[in-house]
Amino acid sequence: MGGHLVVFTCADCGAELTAPLSQIALPAHTYQSVFHELLPVLMESGTYALNPWPSGPPFRSWEEVGEEEAASRGVYAPVHSLSYGPTGTVSVAPGDIRGTVWIPDQCDGYCIGLDGRDGPNLACAQCGRAVATRVDDCALWQVVWLEPQAVRPIVVDAPRPVLGWEELQKVLPERPPLESQGWWSPVWEAATAVALAHLLAVSEGVRVTVPDGLLADVFRRALDTLLPPEPPAKSLALAGPGLSSTVADIELVPLHPQTGEIWASDAEAVVPLAADVWMYLAFNDSRRLLPAMRRLPEGVYRDDPLPLLPSRLFHHDRYVFLGTLERLPEVRQPWLRAIYDDLRDRRTYDLFW
Ligand SMILES: [Zn+2]
Repeated sequence: MGGHLVVFTCADCGAELTAPLSQIALPAHTYQSVFHELLPVLMESGTYALNPWPSGPPFRSWEEVGEEEAASRGVYAPVHSLSYGPTGTVSVAPGDIRGTVWIPDQCDGYCIGLDGRDGPNLACAQCGRAVATRVDDCALWQVVWLEPQAVRPIVVDAPRPVLGWEELQKVLPERPPLESQGWWSPVWEAATAVALAHLLAVSEGVRVTVPDGLLADVFRRALDTLLPPEPPAKSLALAGPGLSSTVADIELVPLHPQTGEIWASDAEAVVPLAADVWMYLAFNDSRRLLPAMRRLPEGVYRDDPLPLLPSRLFHHDRYVFLGTLERLPEVRQPWLRAIYDDLRDRRTYDLFW
C-alpha cells in the first residue's frame, strides 16, 4: 500500500477509468449507514482502497452456508447472509472516475440515490463493459466500487514513500469528535465501534478501566455496560508515536492510514484505531483559555471561544460493531457471542445506534 500512483483501466479495451490514485487503508466507516442523512464522499480525492472481503451479489443465506464454511470465509458468528461476490473491490471517489456511462436498468436504490443493489451500474464508455457500481443513496457514504475483474491497475509513476508518523501528524486532516450543534461525528462512531469490538475480544471478558477525558467519554459507558463490574480489571491507555510510554494491559494504538499496519508495541494486547481519530485523542487540545475580565479575580481563566459540547452521550455504530465482531474468532467465546446475539437480535443496548 501507499506505493505507486496507479490509473485503473478497463480490462477489455484499456480505456482509462480513473484519475491517478494512491492506495490507502479501507476506512472504518465504509459500510456505515447513518439514518436518512445525505453523507459526503467516502474516499479523499486521489486515493483508493481495496476491500479485503467478498462483497456484493451473489449472497447465500447463513442456513445454506453453515457455521464451518462461514468460518473458513472469516465469519465466526451467524449473519443473515454471506457475500460470494469478488474480494478486492476498489473504492474510489466519484469525482476521480473517468470515461464511464450509466447502465440505466441497474440504477436502483432504496431512497433518493443509488445503492448498487443490482450490481454494477456504470459501464466503460468505450466498450460497454460493466465496470463499477456508484453508491450515493442517503444514509450511505458516496463511493464508486470498481469491479476487480473488470479493471487493471496501471502504474503511472515511481514508488512513493510511506509517510512516517511525524509527517502524518502534519498532513492528516483534523477529525474532531463533534460536529456542528454538538452531534458526535459518524466517523468517530464507526472508528470507535471497530476499536470496541477488538477491545472486547482482547479483554477476555474482564472489567476494563479507562482514564478520564475524551477516551472515557467514548469507551467507558460501553465497557462498563458490557463487561462485569468486579475485579480483576485490565487497564486501557492510548499508546503510540509521540506519546511517552505508559504501562497498561491494553494499548489503543493507531492504524497507519497508508499501509493499514498497526503501530508496533510491546503491550500484552493492542487495539487498533483509525489514525485520524487516534491523533485527535492523543494530541488535540482545542481549548483556548483567556484571562477572565470584568471584576473577576486575577488568575481566573475562561474558554474563548466556548467549547462545543456533545448534545448527547456517545453511541457506537451498531452495524460497524457487529460487522467487526463477526470477523473476530474470539466471538466464538460464549460470553462474547451472547453480547453479539443480544445486539444483533434484540438491539438491547442503549450504547449503539
Ligand atoms: Zn472498456
